[in-house]
Amino acid sequence: MTDTHCHLDFMEPQETQAAIEASRDFKAILTIGTNPVRNRNTLALAEAHSHIWAAVGLHPTEAQLLSPELEADLQHLAQHPKVRAIGETGLDFYWTPETRQAQYRTLDFQHQLAASLELPLIFHVRSKQDDLAEQELAAWLLYNRPSRFVLHAFAGHPKLIEVGLALGAYFGFAGPLTYKKNVALREAAKQIPLERLLIETDAPFLPPEPYRGKRNHPALARFTLAKLAEIRGLDLEQMEQITDQNAQACFAFNADAIVNRF
Ligand SMILES: [Zn+2]
Repeated sequence: MTDTHCHLDFMEPQETQAAIEASRDFKAILTIGTNPVRNRNTLALAEAHSHIWAAVGLHPTEAQLLSPELEADLQHLAQHPKVRAIGETGLDFYWTPETRQAQYRTLDFQHQLAASLELPLIFHVRSKQDDLAEQELAAWLLYNRPSRFVLHAFAGHPKLIEVGLALGAYFGFAGPLTYKKNVALREAAKQIPLERLLIETDAPFLPPEPYRGKRNHPALARFTLAKLAEIRGLDLEQMEQITDQNAQACFAFNADAIVNRF
């Protein structure tokens, strides 16, 4: 079992410890940094646990923080051997439509950084009432063509399916796949080739059924896995094996990484 996207550092310390305990049997957990302080906290967790890995980046809702110093900091942190992806980056016009220009600058910067280190990029996208962010991200992807990337907490936008399939994206499925009303998302999940499917939690957010309204944690990824297996007509073990392999192909989790050379 693999959780390819969570935010362990958003939890209270005791909650983080309990979450790590509950997911001891996982092959890997990728915890995602969103700003300079959180990137450090995220890396500290990855250093302390062999099966926890980190992504470092600047979330689009924090895009206004971008500065030459922050760029240098990210360049430094990204070389840590436990860093397996850059992000999350992307476009968020729901919380921070006013920073659109800064969001594009952080997107371009993180794309260059990921390309220079041959790391995958993790994308977040959220619009307000329309689908402007999804349309704009699709256009950005077509123009910039990152070589390895994940559409995280994929919500089923048709244009992003089309562009993602054309460019070889990985599609990360989280708790919303299990929500009763998300019939269209489950239909979308049928269209994605098996080798492009990833399981994630986005913990402590987006808990799957039957944990809606509670705090999410990596061990609950199994509920999303079970739903995905059901949708694709596979048994749980098969789907677990497929999504573990996909996560390994995307992020190259490698237990031999030498943590202390940083
Ligand atoms: Zn996230």
